[in-house]
Amino acid sequence: MSDPRGAAPWHPETAAVRVATPRTPYGENAEALFLTSGFVQPSAQAAAARFAGDEDGYTYARYGNPTTASFEQRLAALEGTEAAIATASGMSAILMLCLGLLQAGDHVVCSQSMFGATIKLIGSDLAKFGVASTFVPQADVDAWRAAVRPQTRLLLAETPTNPLTEVCDIAALADIAHAAGALLAVDNCFATPALQRPVEWGADIVVHSGTKFLDGQGRVMAGALCARRALVEEKFLPVLRSAGMTLAPFNAWVVLKGLETLHLRLQAQSATALRLAHWLLAHPAVARVHYPGLPHHPQHALAMRQQRGCGGAIVAFEVRADDVQTGRERAFAVLDALRVLSLSTNLGDTKTLCSHPASTSHGRLTEAQRQAAGITQGLIRISVGLEHFDDITADLARGLDAIR
Ligand SMILES: *Cc1c(COP(=O)(O)O)cnc(C)c1O
Repeated sequence: MSDPRGAAPWHPETAAVRVATPRTPYGENAEALFLTSGFVQPSAQAAAARFAGDEDGYTYARYGNPTTASFEQRLAALEGTEAAIATASGMSAILMLCLGLLQAGDHVVCSQSMFGATIKLIGSDLAKFGVASTFVPQADVDAWRAAVRPQTRLLLAETPTNPLTEVCDIAALADIAHAAGALLAVDNCFATPALQRPVEWGADIVVHSGTKFLDGQGRVMAGALCARRALVEEKFLPVLRSAGMTLAPFNAWVVLKGLETLHLRLQAQSATALRLAHWLLAHPAVARVHYPGLPHHPQHALAMRQQRGCGGAIVAFEVRADDVQTGRERAFAVLDALRVLSLSTNLGDTKTLCSHPASTSHGRLTEAQRQAAGITQGLIRISVGLEHFDDITADLARGLDAIR
């Protein structure tokens, strides 16, 4: 995306506030919100040409609306892809990805640390339609390579993961996918294009839950896929037309405006998260801290390379405990002592959100599965917001000091 006057390509910060569909004749400065489901056609001939795909022009909002298009163009500019297609939620973006690329007999390789609903969608819902899948350890490149079969069409990763912030090597996975004639899709929800652009490392498709950092203020549900124009137009747009996982124009407008502050928010929230990770590490009631910005993180060097030197805004930590029961009681004590930070399983908000994965997002796993995945009962996840560092630590210290 470049300056319309033909100057140098815009920097991402500029694209984040400037890329949109053209202004209306009224000259509005903030992007217009087109709350319309249908569009009046200039002639019967034009309507026929638009429906046949021979002419550009909006017809019906299930598959096209100028406000939604502004969000798609802006997000594509930030991710560095030719195109993007918006969806009603992050999960509907992943459904669109699967419906667009896969058919019975195909095989998907997926990280075992993916978002829970993604694992359910690919591992069980798609299995009903004859799509096979293999789940592999997030950071084990050899396991990804070994899982590939002649029928493999798609590799799907998420980095960093929820809640343990495991990082995978996007470039290595892209090589494995391409050698097998498959595509690599990366869920970029945690890092966002402010910190990480998966296509720069060889990924073919970027998956987003716009509900998280893209909106950034916890207001609306949204999702998107970013990819080459041919993939968007030939594989994903037909799914949108027939399946209708459309992003509402109002929600598109909210996320569009959210993108304007994405870089500022991610930089500020990441900087506070790094300070918080060090503060937690030094607290006597804390046994372990998971954060890619800490030198002891198993993929620290890779994360710094892939994420522009930033760890992101999500930190997870374990309270010190000798057994499962005590871990759960102590984690609950810390969460129940909060007076400022929000007890919420959402993430990517300007408000700091704290959650207990073992009893919420990962509550449907068995205790053995949780142990294997490292989701202990003492684990707390923090999505760091924009509050002052001292207020965040004061709120956490109340509970942590009581259990030390
Ligand atoms: C929340 C989330 C999703 C799903 O997005 P929704 O907008 O809630 O449907 C997918 N991937 C990751 C990593 C998420 O955190």
